[in-house]
Amino acid sequence: MKANLLQTPIVYLKGVGPNRAETLRTELGIDTFQDLLNLFPNRYLDKTQYYKIAQLQRSNADVQVIGKIINIKTVEQKKGKRLVATFIDDTGEMELVWFRGQKWIRENLKLNIPYVIFGKCNWFNGKFSMAHPDMELLTEHQKGLKVAMQPIYPSTEKLSNKGITNRVINKLMQQLFIETKGRFTETLSDHLLRELNLLPKAEALFNIHFPKNQELLAKARFRLKFEELFYIQLQLLTKKALRKQKIKGFDFDRVGEHFKEFYEEHLPFELTGAQKRVIKEIRADLGSKAQMNRLLQGDVGSGKTIVAVMTMLLALDNGFQACLMAPTEILANQHYMGIKELLSPMGIHCALLTGSVKKSERNSIHTALESGELHILIGTHALLEDKVRFNNLGLAIIDEQHRFGVAQRAKLWHKNDIPPHILVMTATPIPRTLAMSLYGDLDISVIDELPPGRKPIKTVHRYDSNRLKVFQFIRDEIKKGRQVYIVYPLIQESEALDYKDLMDGYESIARDFPLPDYQISIVHGKMKPADKDYEMDRFVRGETQIMVATTVIEVGVNVPNASVMIIESAERFGLSQLHQLRGRVGRGADQSFCILMTGHKLSSEAKTRLQTMVATNDGFEIAEVDLKLRGPGDLMGTQQSGVLNLRIADIVKDNDILKAARHHALRLLKEDPGLEKRENLPIRHTYIQLGKHKNIWNYIS
Ligand code: ADP
Ligand code: MG
Repeated sequence: MKANLLQTPIVYLKGVGPNRAETLRTELGIDTFQDLLNLFPNRYLDKTQYYKIAQLQRSNADVQVIGKIINIKTVEQKKGKRLVATFIDDTGEMELVWFRGQKWIRENLKLNIPYVIFGKCNWFNGKFSMAHPDMELLTEHQKGLKVAMQPIYPSTEKLSNKGITNRVINKLMQQLFIETKGRFTETLSDHLLRELNLLPKAEALFNIHFPKNQELLAKARFRLKFEELFYIQLQLLTKKALRKQKIKGFDFDRVGEHFKEFYEEHLPFELTGAQKRVIKEIRADLGSKAQMNRLLQGDVGSGKTIVAVMTMLLALDNGFQACLMAPTEILANQHYMGIKELLSPMGIHCALLTGSVKKSERNSIHTALESGELHILIGTHALLEDKVRFNNLGLAIIDEQHRFGVAQRAKLWHKNDIPPHILVMTATPIPRTLAMSLYGDLDISVIDELPPGRKPIKTVHRYDSNRLKVFQFIRDEIKKGRQVYIVYPLIQESEALDYKDLMDGYESIARDFPLPDYQISIVHGKMKPADKDYEMDRFVRGETQIMVATTVIEVGVNVPNASVMIIESAERFGLSQLHQLRGRVGRGADQSFCILMTGHKLSSEAKTRLQTMVATNDGFEIAEVDLKLRGPGDLMGTQQSGVLNLRIADIVKDNDILKAARHHALRLLKEDPGLEKRENLPIRHTYIQLGKHKNIWNYIS
């Protein structure tokens, strides 16, 4: 297929016209023939089979059943009404449910006459049910045309309002295949096609839109998923290889006096095996003459900070400056205090730069930074400002990575002609499969061992009705000299409400834990940074025993004497957030506790989250559950979902295909790094196109 035919504006496809073209563009992002071709169906209706009610499975699949309605009734529920019909065949009964259009349905449905119903089958209240089924009288059905597998395309309300129904899209797709004669250029090598037994491109595209049967559909899907993941991996791996080859990095070949002195005289504890291994991996990068771009994953409390400190010392030993960027002022502050304490005895100059640093101090920091007198700069986003210029930045460390966007990372990078080495630290464990796709171009180190002597945190779930007992427990712990966090949810959409919850909670806590025996700190988003810091500080210094807060304390705060974490309305938190919060305790030698408070009404997903938290302290395990519950987009936040904007593959479900894709991409690059072999020409050609388009599917076809 000539590429330019596929680039034809969609308006020229027979049956489209300017109005439809506009709607297709705004609603589905379709500009060209190619874009339409790459609009893959979400699902298919398999109308080749009829099921008996007794044969239905809890598979949530679309099914077709013949039977009749024996009664129909309206059921009142909290939000509006629903219409429920009992539907039977000779093997059993099920329910049909409508939430909308009830009047019309009531008036038009016929009792005791055979219908063919079609739709998604749910298991609900011990029965199968189907909401808003497609229905047709059996007599009509028998007259109609039989389509085997009917594709269902993504749709929007606007599309259907403008009459671009699924049937219309279907027609347009047929027209597209007619005008292009269905001839599409192959984009993988013969070798791959043979080895993986993949359908040729043209055949895969045909069968994804017009599947002849289940088997060919499955093969078409496999081929397209593989291809999608293969090119993403190829891109990531090439990027990584290029970076290693081409992007010169500062050579930190000296392990010098600072590093040694610190290791021998100032290290406050013996490093764990994992910490030692990671430092070794980092040292290998720094001495490789290529730029380091490493992601350091380690669960909360695994001791990433000391690794950061020692890496910074390597930079200093080689005559460079280093910086550490944290996502919040509190955290930057804490890093600054801790690092200054460790390093100032060695005559190393550190400074803190955040939004609330005063202008005069800021100016002197700028000057000291430019002269090179300042060795280490710690701070927030403030580091990214143009005015912040280093004398010779050799290393940039970013803590808690997923809160910073990729663009921000790049900005740090551009502070020098030669990019500094980059170490990104995250406490949010990223499941391996996801890491492979999101950070396939980074190197990854993992601290998978906690410092010795830590007792696993005991986690329990308590209902609000048990609050008195929980409060008694808090009193007992405080009597032993411990400190307690009580955290309230903060969800942007209802900030006012959250604030009220927090204040109500605070008042009741203040009543139950009265002065002068108890001192309480409170920190929330509406406070001025200075006030926040003041309250935080009192807690850090042990002047207050209870810290009532919204999730601002989520990230990184370290108070080893705090041993109880109470999370209010725990059902409203996501898993990774719960895990992060829990990580605020268990940092000292004492047994720590995490108490998840909820009301009695819980969704099944919330139950799964709570059960997972109670069952395990392992961040990776929790991340896997989270990934399954929420899917990759939500898990990583929108800023990174670009890479995950997959059209057909699913990073979670297609894990095996992903592994195969990575394996074959790796092998290809090893055997033919320049993609110069004749048989790899289709891949080379596709890959070159790949650089020119933002959407991966624009070049795969
Ligand atoms: P995180 O990985 O969450 O950033 P930190 O670096 O804040 O963890 O470390 C958590 C706590 O563990 C700190 O109090 C730190 O001093 C301590 N710590 C780190 N490494 C060790 C170790 N090898 N032995 C004992 N304590 C350690
Ligand atoms: Mg940390």
